[in-house]
Amino acid sequence: MIKRALSILSSVLLVLTACAPDAPEPAGVVIVNARVIDGSGGPSRDVNVRVVGDRIVTVGNFEPSANDTLVDANGLVLAPGFIDAHSHHEDGLLEMPGALAVVSQGITTIAGGQDGDQIYPLDDFFASLETSPVAINVASFAGHGTLRGRVMGEDYQRHATSDELAEMVGLLRAEMEAGALGLSSGLEYDPGSFSTTEELVVLAKEVALHGGRYISHIRSEDQYFWEAIDEVITIGREAQIPVQVTHIKLAMTRWWGLADRLISKLDEARASGVDITADIYPYPAWNAGFTWLRTLFPDRDLDRRDGAEYILSDMLSPEGILLPRFGPEPSYDGMTIAEIAHIRESDPATTLMELLKADVEMGGRSPMLGFAMDEPDIESIMAWPQTVIGSDGGLAGVHPRGFGAFTRYLGHYIRERNVVSLEEGIRRMTSLSAQQVGIVERGSIQVGHYADLVLFDPETVTDRSTYEAPHLPSTGIEKVWVNGQLVIDGGQVTGNRHGKPIRRASHQK
Ligand SMILES: [Zn+2]
Repeated sequence: MIKRALSILSSVLLVLTACAPDAPEPAGVVIVNARVIDGSGGPSRDVNVRVVGDRIVTVGNFEPSANDTLVDANGLVLAPGFIDAHSHHEDGLLEMPGALAVVSQGITTIAGGQDGDQIYPLDDFFASLETSPVAINVASFAGHGTLRGRVMGEDYQRHATSDELAEMVGLLRAEMEAGALGLSSGLEYDPGSFSTTEELVVLAKEVALHGGRYISHIRSEDQYFWEAIDEVITIGREAQIPVQVTHIKLAMTRWWGLADRLISKLDEARASGVDITADIYPYPAWNAGFTWLRTLFPDRDLDRRDGAEYILSDMLSPEGILLPRFGPEPSYDGMTIAEIAHIRESDPATTLMELLKADVEMGGRSPMLGFAMDEPDIESIMAWPQTVIGSDGGLAGVHPRGFGAFTRYLGHYIRERNVVSLEEGIRRMTSLSAQQVGIVERGSIQVGHYADLVLFDPETVTDRSTYEAPHLPSTGIEKVWVNGQLVIDGGQVTGNRHGKPIRRASHQK
């Protein structure tokens, strides 16, 4: 009897709540006069967007209520906050919580833990982000190199034993349970370079059990590029897991002009059932430690002149190796090998060998930029329907992508080069990225989604960071909201820090 009375009472309450004509609505923020591009790829719409708390609650032609705060967009484009599919901006983030590099280019969420390298353990990292919030949302992959390093220590220049592999699986499981997006690998770097494909398949199978993904800086981006693409396809097929070729590129003169061959190969893999995708950064230069070039010398022997000659003829030109900071000789900062060879009155190969030796002696800490990609290839790969945008950038790195990747994509590749339409380009920076890395309730302007938003001027938006001055913020980004709070207003940083750690979609209940 009591039960029945309670049930009647609750029905009455439900009806009252649902029908009350003048129930006070919570105060919201309504963005009016915006050209809304919602991330779906569909055409822009002139609609209002209402935000309450950290969520989008209404999208359409409605009248704001009296207690709403209005934001006049003045006809600018309102898009979902950009999602960076490959970021290193989590490094140093707790010390630089404003994340200027990130928010000033309209990015609201980063997928970190890339190239096999993660902040470990994820549980602790996410707890820190909850106690001391930063300006942006942070998701992370588990890093193969990190886990391999923890298990094998300094003795990593070999295949793992089955016990060691089982231990890696255990560590990986814990990271997946903490909400990792999946597994990242950096197979051109130590210690990941010493792993077998089989090791990666075993780990990827564990990730698949949790509904995660595999994202890879593949085993070779130059000499053995095609074999490396085969390997990532094999891992996708054998582990039955979505795979992503990260910062995809044709980074060797010999492969220039072969973008169509690459795309056909990827399309064939997709047609055969492997969910393979890609992300790209919009620049012709890569960035790594200078001494990474040593791995391209036979036996890593820096006395092998043929190694230096090979690098300078087949992969990079003397003008295409730029040393932004050179520890052993700071007067070379900002110069190319061609320029330094000229100063030393030497030839480029000798110069390269001598500088590499000097840097190795000082601990190998000098960064380099390698101009190895060709613009027509970049544009063809960018236009492939499965390619999203990733910055591969950091908060204070030497590559301009840390500050300018997304605005360069908008300004140069979309507005000036028309590689894709603005609507499609935004999809590649938002909903498609979210889908490819496994994030839900973000990446789209729709009711119920988190209010991560960017307001920008499509006519003027552009990057300003350069190889000479990589830390210049972009122009044309007017406002950025993260979880309903402004982090950029009038192009300026507000200091708000309402970012959240983001756990993998299939981890959420
Ligand atoms: Zn990488």
